[in-house]
Amino acid sequence: MSVNLQTPIDYLKGVGPNRADLLKKELRIHTYQDLLNLFPNRYIDRTRYYKINQIQQSNAEIQVVGVITGFREVAQKRGKRLVGTFQDETGTMELVWFRGQKWIRESLKLNTPYVIFGKANWFSGKFNMPHPDIELLEDHKKSLRSGIQPIYPSTEKLSNKGISNRVVSKIVQQLFLETKGKFSETLSQNLLSELQLISKSDALLNIHFPKNQDLLSKAQLRLKFEELFFIQLQLILKNLIHKSKIKGHTFEKVGNYFNTFFQEHLPFDLTHAQKRVLKEIRSDLGSHAQMNRLLQGDVGSGKTIVAFMSILIALDNGFQACLMAPTEILSVQHYNGLLEWCNKLNIRIKLLTGSTKTSNRQEIHKSLENGDLQILIGTHALIEDKVKFKNLGLAIIDEQHRFGVAQRSKLWHKGGSAPPHILVMTATPIPRTLAMSVYGDLDISIIDELPPGRKSIKTVHRYDKNRLNVFRFIRDEIKKGRQIYIVYPLIKESEKMDYKDLMDGYESIARDFPLPDYQISIVHGKMKPADKDYEMQRFIKGETQIMVATTVIEVGVNVPNASVMIIESAERFGLSQLHQLRGRVGRGAEQSYCILMTSHKLTSDSKTRLETMVKTNDGFEIAEVDLKLRGPGDVMGTQQSGVLNLRIADIVKDKDLLQQARYYAKKILKEDPSLSSTENAAILNTYKALSKYKNIWNYIS
Ligand code: ADP
Ligand code: MG
Repeated sequence: MSVNLQTPIDYLKGVGPNRADLLKKELRIHTYQDLLNLFPNRYIDRTRYYKINQIQQSNAEIQVVGVITGFREVAQKRGKRLVGTFQDETGTMELVWFRGQKWIRESLKLNTPYVIFGKANWFSGKFNMPHPDIELLEDHKKSLRSGIQPIYPSTEKLSNKGISNRVVSKIVQQLFLETKGKFSETLSQNLLSELQLISKSDALLNIHFPKNQDLLSKAQLRLKFEELFFIQLQLILKNLIHKSKIKGHTFEKVGNYFNTFFQEHLPFDLTHAQKRVLKEIRSDLGSHAQMNRLLQGDVGSGKTIVAFMSILIALDNGFQACLMAPTEILSVQHYNGLLEWCNKLNIRIKLLTGSTKTSNRQEIHKSLENGDLQILIGTHALIEDKVKFKNLGLAIIDEQHRFGVAQRSKLWHKGGSAPPHILVMTATPIPRTLAMSVYGDLDISIIDELPPGRKSIKTVHRYDKNRLNVFRFIRDEIKKGRQIYIVYPLIKESEKMDYKDLMDGYESIARDFPLPDYQISIVHGKMKPADKDYEMQRFIKGETQIMVATTVIEVGVNVPNASVMIIESAERFGLSQLHQLRGRVGRGAEQSYCILMTSHKLTSDSKTRLETMVKTNDGFEIAEVDLKLRGPGDVMGTQQSGVLNLRIADIVKDKDLLQQARYYAKKILKEDPSLSSTENAAILNTYKALSKYKNIWNYIS
């Protein structure tokens, strides 16, 4: 009879109530299964023997065969240390003991082969190893201890209470004894043979007790694949079920509005990427399912026109549409842009924000409800309960990062007989792998091409002491008729100080660029919206040449004549924020510049960020670096980190495997959507078992 892996861990021989308690509290191990899934963090490789001249400072523990040629004592502040000279045919190193020196001297033999094991330090031009594990080569050859040893995750409390790595390893060994190391397969035979994966039992055995490096790699590969595969399976199923269960409005046709705009008013040729994405959206809108699509495109890639043309399809089918942006400034900008096109097509469009007057607001509410108003643009004022549409067919959300899932779901209920189609646009590119894991249940469209003729922005890094040169450069650009942004960080925790920096900066700039030759706008979060708007408008109209601001201008602002972006204390900004800010320039025909100002003190991460900005303009490349620096949890925020809490796979390092897992999950679900074939029985069983733990599966049954 096979052992039930749901057996409480207390029942395992050698565990007992005290240890069980600790394992539960410290490592959340409640059952046999949990213990089995406690994968080692790393391994100590005692299969490899280093020569002394192969040792590097980056090595963790290493193992060397050699002889001790002599001992000497070295006096130090307190007491003395014993140093042994250790030598092989390639060189010498030192073994160091601070304690137990008498015993060492008496028991170790000179000029006799030993195996030493430990961490080597580089000191005064030589490697030394303090308190090495040391064993006669002769004994070492006979012992079983050599091999690849797992190091398990642990906590201080565990090791204090005597549950050392060796103890954990023993308990796991006991588990293998009781279960005879036989575990049910979780993948299908087809997958195993096609991908040449080892069986579940072999993988578990070798992840805990690797026979050799090759089997360890195979075990890791198999378990990583499995982990990614089931996540993808779950996301894709969710998406499929969504599509089959949630009916959307079907937009049967592309009609007059779209065609007229396309034939007569299109201001430029669409890029290939824009056309492709429009096709993807069009196909969603024409299907019977509700669209949930993420549109990714770098700053300036031209998402707005794609949004507008999608809106035209909704209008062509007698539906209303809305576009929600995170800030007032952005909403106004979108409104003005779209208004121009709408006027040409006789489309009724309105703007709704926090500062819309009451009388205006009431009129908007009325015309929305009776269907007179076709397009509504706005901030989150647009999702207030009072706002009711007659028949909202398409809701577009710009700059998704600023909105939460809750807001998305509010839009959901404004669609009348069915939820509106939803298009989420983001200008903060998310690496494909991350998008796949986190937004795997959304469909993703990517505009990966900029409109032709864009000059790439020249980015440089300057230290504060070069400020005079930078100011000279600004003066020259202003002389040419350009406008300048100067941005200061404003980060919540240090708001007061940041605010002071901003005002100090403003004063110093005002001194260097005095009236009446120079006009300066200033915009920050503490200003009233009306004042902010006034200052913004002065800059947009070209009445001021310099805009001093905090990051409020980060999102979407469009002033094509602004050609220089100066970012103060650039080391304090994250990569995606720097990229967003830089995206405010380079919108006109002129060569644009981004100058990253920093102090001299830079951490290695800040250096990487600055170097990346200087090196590339490609938002996706920048996003990849960001992901490497910060890790998936921080890039996406804590909301979604649940999906990213991987046990063994790493979506940064294992991105190819992730792609593969997604491919096979899709393939299998295409061939066998209910996983009901005998071939897929193991997959279905695993999927069902997982569903007991993850509420994401709940509604599937
Ligand atoms: P984003 O994707 O950042 O929202 P926008 O939609 O604001 O970008 O477009 C940026 C600028 O590029 C706008 O001035 C827009 O008119 C212009 N643009 C968009 N698509 C094209 C194109 N295919 N050819 C030329 N210019 C374009
Ligand atoms: Mg935009």
